[in-house]
Amino acid sequence: MSTISKQNRTIVQQLTGMPTSDGAGVKLTRIIGTAQLDMLDPFLMLDCFESDDADDYVAGFPTHPHRGFETVTYLLNGRMRHKDNAGNEGVIEPGGVQWMTAGKGILHSEMPEQAEGLLKGFQLWVNLPAKAKMSEPKYQEFLPESTPLERHDNGTEIRVIAGTTNQGTVGPVINLHTYPIYMDVSLPAKATFEQAIVSEHNAFIYVIDGEVSVQESADSNQSPVGTTIQAKNLAVLSKGDNLSVTSHVDGSRFLLIAGQPLNEPVARMGPFVMNTQTEIRQAVADFHNGKFGQPA
Ligand code: FE
Repeated sequence: MSTISKQNRTIVQQLTGMPTSDGAGVKLTRIIGTAQLDMLDPFLMLDCFESDDADDYVAGFPTHPHRGFETVTYLLNGRMRHKDNAGNEGVIEPGGVQWMTAGKGILHSEMPEQAEGLLKGFQLWVNLPAKAKMSEPKYQEFLPESTPLERHDNGTEIRVIAGTTNQGTVGPVINLHTYPIYMDVSLPAKATFEQAIVSEHNAFIYVIDGEVSVQESADSNQSPVGTTIQAKNLAVLSKGDNLSVTSHVDGSRFLLIAGQPLNEPVARMGPFVMNTQTEIRQAVADFHNGKFGQPA
């Protein structure tokens, strides 16, 4: 008789990201997409914006193009209005999500729907495989009431954007290219969160508040040195089919994001992410020739 034991994921890299600005001068922290971590296939970029000073965000992201990948906007505080050149428009609210497949090209704006108060959230860029880079643009957009919040008796709360929790809560986003997990997990002190993840998928956690550790082995009584992750830190995880995260303090909160790597060549220039430089030059030419349409 044999037993199949779970293989816990461990931390292979920790980083804090780089302060930068983008759009019309929105201050943000770039966490993936820097010299420290160029990408974590299929994730091309992760930005965190967080400010209660309107000067840091109010200029927003006026009309700009995208081609060849997906942008995922998830807010913790504040509201963002998006508008595209195909007539789509909506407001993203805390707990809701916009998962936009730019495909062959979209022109859109993303503007704070507020002139004061705290704006806090994330934008993640998820690559598309070659076969889907020139697909028709599409949106998967969900209001907060359409993203399930799983609550446990111990106070754990899991907002599920994509993927399925160990208790079977299913996120609304469907993605048959990278099969992502996107969960926002809040834990009381000393609570442990367990999540099955496909072994070969790349995964990371980003700690929003508090402090957590990643349990390296189901047998270990104490956390080995180096497994603690402080707030505003991203931890890249090793391969493995199980993730076990324990909170050190009440109110620890983190994003868990995972997905199937595409293992394709990546050519990127600003808002265009393709497989080859020739395709990048084509994207630039198409943009300048108005093939992305007229600005919204
Ligand atoms: Fe955009």
